[in-house]
Amino acid sequence: DVTNTKGNDFEDYFLKRQLLMGIFEKGFDKPSPIQEESIPIALAGRDVLARAKNGTGKTAAFAVPVLEKIDTSKNEIQAMILVPTRELALQTAQVCKELGKYLAVDVMVTTGGTSLKDDIMRLNQTIHIVVATPGRILDLASKGIAKLNNCRVLVMDEADKLLSFEFQPIIEQLINFLPGDRQIMLFSATFPVTVKDFKEKFLKKPYIINLMDELTLKGLSQYYAFVEEKQKVHCLNTLFSKLRINQSIIFCNSVNRVELLAKKITELGYSCFYIHAKMLQSHRNRVFHDFRNGSCRNLVSSDLFTRGIDIQSVNVVINFDFPKNAETYLHRVGRSGRFGHLGLAVNLITYEDRLNLYRIEQELGTEIKPIPSSIDERLY
Ligand code: ADP
Ligand code: MG
Repeated sequence: DVTNTKGNDFEDYFLKRQLLMGIFEKGFDKPSPIQEESIPIALAGRDVLARAKNGTGKTAAFAVPVLEKIDTSKNEIQAMILVPTRELALQTAQVCKELGKYLAVDVMVTTGGTSLKDDIMRLNQTIHIVVATPGRILDLASKGIAKLNNCRVLVMDEADKLLSFEFQPIIEQLINFLPGDRQIMLFSATFPVTVKDFKEKFLKKPYIINLMDELTLKGLSQYYAFVEEKQKVHCLNTLFSKLRINQSIIFCNSVNRVELLAKKITELGYSCFYIHAKMLQSHRNRVFHDFRNGSCRNLVSSDLFTRGIDIQSVNVVINFDFPKNAETYLHRVGRSGRFGHLGLAVNLITYEDRLNLYRIEQELGTEIKPIPSSIDERLY
């Protein structure tokens, strides 16, 4: 899924030399299949609707063409990258900065939960690319502080999430601030039918890329254990003692349960952080930063970390609470096994979850097996 299929090299796209330097310094040797598909099309200015599996390099698939398009001699916002969570905004901006290290490109992150004043000050300086969550940038655009009239490129990462009912009205208002000759690119691993309306309304003859196949979850070993609700913590304790966890993300279905579980895990004597959307942003940032640095082995999370988060040393995902739908399942387990690495997903299944388990398994065309007493460590 990440092996270069067309035999292209990054040199083939006639990118600026400084951009190539950034790409190679990041350790990218050859473009992945989604990058091979999207980079030339995006450079040519077409609208794009791209679906590719988790962990296959979608970020660079849009960041490379976006960076190439920036004219650094102009002091104006030329591209906007929208994402559904603040942490993903930080991560995506970081990738842009790294790839654009040798270009004089200015990247700004703007999200809720931070000081509006700071954003206003920052917008007085040069900015070429904004990476944003929808609410804050709409606020800044509506007030006339962020000027989007020269922003000809709009990327929506995790696009289906951005088009869910909570975000869609904001997105449509934002698009009204862009010039008519804009290019829109949508990326995700999942595109439910709801995206169709948006596509028909806003995309001009989009080039459709679909790199999903029946082997969506290749490289990921998936297991379930039947448990009663009150045995879940005990079961998790057993998993901790048996699995070779490099780093793990443990998902719960509510903010309350995240905090409770984190407390219990700490009491069991395992190192553990937690994160959810009701925490102060400064606290969230610290946890994200420290977990990424490897200062803690386990992270308990709400669906805040379900999408896009890329931490290569996460080799185990545990659904302490089983998700309600296939999309959420796919994105959660996609936090491990990234870019050709192997990964392990373990699902704790209560009586009530059974039907959902079978449904999701069927919908994704994948096999979630009963957990054996020991799991071959070479599988993850
Ligand atoms: P996706 O958005 O498709 O889930 P990401 O863009 O987060 O995937 O990329 C997953 C990982 O793969 C990242 O750690 C990224 O640095 C790495 N990666 C992306 N493209 C390449 C490449 N061409 N060569 C090597 N590693 C890559
Ligand atoms: Mg991504």
